[in-house]
Amino acid sequence: MSIKIENLTHVYMPKSPFEKLALDNVSLEIEDGDFVALIGHTGSGKSTIIQHMNGLLKPSKGKIIVDGIDITAKGVKLTDIRKKVGLVFQYAEYQLFEETIEKDIAFGPKNLGLSDGEISERVKRSMEMVGLEYEVYKNKSPFELSGGQKRRVAIAGVIAMEPKTLILDEPTAGLDPKGRDDILKQIQRLHKEYGMTIILVSHSMEDVAKIALKVMVMNHGKVVLKGTPKEVFKEVKTLEKIGLGVPQVTYLIQALRAKGFKVSDNAYTIEQARDEILKSLVENK
Ligand code: ADP
Repeated sequence: MSIKIENLTHVYMPKSPFEKLALDNVSLEIEDGDFVALIGHTGSGKSTIIQHMNGLLKPSKGKIIVDGIDITAKGVKLTDIRKKVGLVFQYAEYQLFEETIEKDIAFGPKNLGLSDGEISERVKRSMEMVGLEYEVYKNKSPFELSGGQKRRVAIAGVIAMEPKTLILDEPTAGLDPKGRDDILKQIQRLHKEYGMTIILVSHSMEDVAKIALKVMVMNHGKVVLKGTPKEVFKEVKTLEKIGLGVPQVTYLIQALRAKGFKVSDNAYTIEQARDEILKSLVENK
């Protein structure tokens, strides 16, 4: 299953004084099993593009092909797309509303008209997938939980629809460092252990360097860079020009190299930087 976007243009409020070109002839492909980070400044078009991927927004021009089906064609049911592509909004926990966690997660599957047994199975499975023990949490109110746990319940609610692809819009926003690390680990697990295709919207270079396999950088409604984190973070000038920069440790490595320290610049996370620095100390002894 892949998501192909072909020449997608989106204009908000066309032919009005507030007309805004949010996406400008964007083409990209997300392949089955990918872990893609979409990065860019506020207003660069990230939310607009992801809302096209599950049919919430319709293109002004262009096509979106999900699993071989043009989802912009007439007669395509949104529920069919949502079963394939799940979208976790920013601060998704604000949308929790049921009195128990179990009921909240069951809400989506219920709307699919599944049997009670299947709904219950899905709730259990999706809670396990986000690291919430079913027996401990099922009867608790979502409002008794910490911020990070609430967010996991919201993610479980989307996973319970059993999408093959999961899109998460800034899933670490507003969490403390521990909550952030926990959520990133869970997302990584969804990719590694459950084989989900992940699209992560983020503006944290550190998060992206840690977990994404591919990076797409957006600016003013266009995708301006695409590649592995290594390929993208090499483009320091372009990234700085659009005000994004690279992970902090990358600057550290560059500063060391500028001072004549013979260390490889193949380091975008703290762990990689540590390894490269230790390696260079041994090699240059
Ligand atoms: P990002 O997610 O990268 O912050 P968005 O996709 O939300 O970017 O926004 C892209 C552009 O479209 C911005 O200029 C934003 O102001 C505009 N925009 C977003 N949503 C709407 C809307 N509902 N109506 C009008 N303009 C919008």
